[in-house]
Order: sequence, then C-alpha cells, then structure tokens
Amino acid sequence: MGLKVLIRVDRVAAILAGCDCYGELIADIDPAELNLDERQALAQAPEHHGMTDLTAPFPPPGNYPAPPETATPDVHAWLRWRIKCANLYERACKAQLAKWDQEAETYIAYWSQQPLERFITKDWPAIYYTAALPNHHGDGPPLPESDAMAARARIETALADKLNDAHALADKRNRAAERHKLQRETDRTAAQIRRAEQLAAWVNEYMDDNARARFKLNLLPEDEILDAIRAAAYRSLDEFPRYRKIRFNDVDHSERCSGSQSLDCDTDDAKHLTAAQFELYRQIETKAPPGAKLKALVHSCACESCNAGLIRRSVQVVIPVGELLFSREYALDGNTAAIDFDTDGDHN
Ligand SMILES: [Zn+2]
Ligand SMILES: [Zn+2]
Repeated sequence: MGLKVLIRVDRVAAILAGCDCYGELIADIDPAELNLDERQALAQAPEHHGMTDLTAPFPPPGNYPAPPETATPDVHAWLRWRIKCANLYERACKAQLAKWDQEAETYIAYWSQQPLERFITKDWPAIYYTAALPNHHGDGPPLPESDAMAARARIETALADKLNDAHALADKRNRAAERHKLQRETDRTAAQIRRAEQLAAWVNEYMDDNARARFKLNLLPEDEILDAIRAAAYRSLDEFPRYRKIRFNDVDHSERCSGSQSLDCDTDDAKHLTAAQFELYRQIETKAPPGAKLKALVHSCACESCNAGLIRRSVQVVIPVGELLFSREYALDGNTAAIDFDTDGDHN
C-alpha cells in the first residue's frame, strides 16, 4: 500500500508503443523507495482528496520543459520533471528578485533627485492635488510591478520623507486654491453689489420720475438703465456717424452673382488708415470722455457667390463707467448712414 499519485501517459507514445492505456491515471509509490530529491519533489507537489498531483504545472516565473510524454506509467519520469522544474523555479525567482531589486535601486536613485513638483498631480477632472510615488511619469523609471512587494517596500522607505513633503506641498496648493476661489467669489459678489448700487444711483440722479417709480417697484428693465448710461457716456460723440455693419446690398456684386444674400465677413485691427480716416479718428479721440480707449478696426466682407468684396474701417471706442464697460464703433469712411445702431457692445 503506497502513496497515491496522479500522473499521465501520453496517447501518441502509448499507441506507438503498442499500448492501449493512456491519459491521467493514479499510481502507487512508496516514498521509502525514492531518493531525497524525489521525496522532496513529491512532498512539494500539490495534494487534493488524498492524491498527490505530479502533473500540476509550475507557476511563473520560469521557462519550464514540457511534461514527460511516456508510453507507460512512469512515476520516476514525472518526479524527475518536477525536480528539474523546481530548480528552474528557484533560479527564476532569484533572478526576478534581483531584477526588482535593481529596478528599486534605479527608481530611488532617480526619483530622490527629482523636485517635489513631480510627486504631486492634479489630473483632469480632479480639482485637488494628490501626492504619490510617480509611476510611468515622463521619462523617469517606473515602479517595479506590484508583485515586487519587497522592492516596493524598499522604495517606500527610501522615499518616505520625499513623499511626506509632497503631501504637504499638495495640501498647501489645495489650501491656496481654496483661498483663491473664495477670494474670487468675494470679489465677484462685491463687484455685483457695486454694480447694483451704481445702477440705483444713476436712476435716482439722472432718470425721470416715471423711471424712478418703476425702479422702486422693480419694474424698470435693466437694459433701459444701461441704455441711458451708455447714451450719456457717448453723448460727446453724437455728432460722429456710427459704424454700420456691411450688408449684402452694400457690396457691388458682379452680374453672375446668384444673390444668395450670404457674406463672409471678418474684423481685424486696422494696419493702416488714410489721412482722412485718421483725421476723423483724432477728432473722435479729442471729444471722447477721459478714460475712453480707441482702437482702429477693419471690417472686410466678401460675397460667397460672386466674391465681390467691401472693406470699411471704424474706430472702436470703449468707455468704462464704474463697474460697466461699454463699446461702440464709429465710421471712419465718412460714407455711412447714422441710422442703424447695431454696433453697440456691452461688456457688463
Ligand atoms: Zn507632474
Ligand atoms: Zn455677390
């Protein structure tokens, strides 16, 4: 009565040897008949349900030879295979540990010299910084794989101070970001309050009884107040013709034009002005209220059908009034009707 072991007989080898018995089978073996190496291999093989499995594969790492393909049940062949595999396994483990150790050394040597900045990240969509040991970060060496527990532990110990400092830096950044956010909100609220006070003061000082009464009842549209403030801000420029956007019919279309009514238009800073245009620019500048900012613009449109084009120049006058910022354009070509006020801009 021996020990039960699971082995395998190769089908092809069995047939070629004239045997009709193949596949997995259970054999008996007496450990007393085995040498020490074989006993060790037997002892290390996995056991389930009272049976020792000599066919069980070996885990990585290791490049193992194929299991024996015997024509007859051969327990010794399987034990020899397991002894060989066990040696390979041991050697491969040592090599892997040495590799991980080397990786840890490289990692520590490199990252201990890197600025804290590289230990903190704020990857979109995160809003806060976090600190961590860099992994696959830029051209720095990555961490050894997660199975390399000892190597990882060695790195964590060696870079513990660095990581602590990185955590402190991340916290500092996060607190600063919080403060800035709070400050921005405070600033915004204060600006909104100042703006509301400015509008109220304007209504009471400059608008008529009807408007004041509506304002009190919250029935006065804000646009009406803004229009009034804007009109007052630009009053000194009322004598100058306003710039009017180029319309389809302003362009001299060719005969082959389909009349598609569609223009392709662009606005840019003007690169040059004629003497007459500049004369007008200077007059506007002289009459503009203090604090006004002027900028010469060029508007160019081309017909999408016949390609006929038109260019006009204007001066944009930006006037800040308290919390409000107004923008209006005046024609510099001297040929524009002052009827369509479609170039008022608000930045408030
Ligand atoms: Zn980074
Ligand atoms: Zn056209």
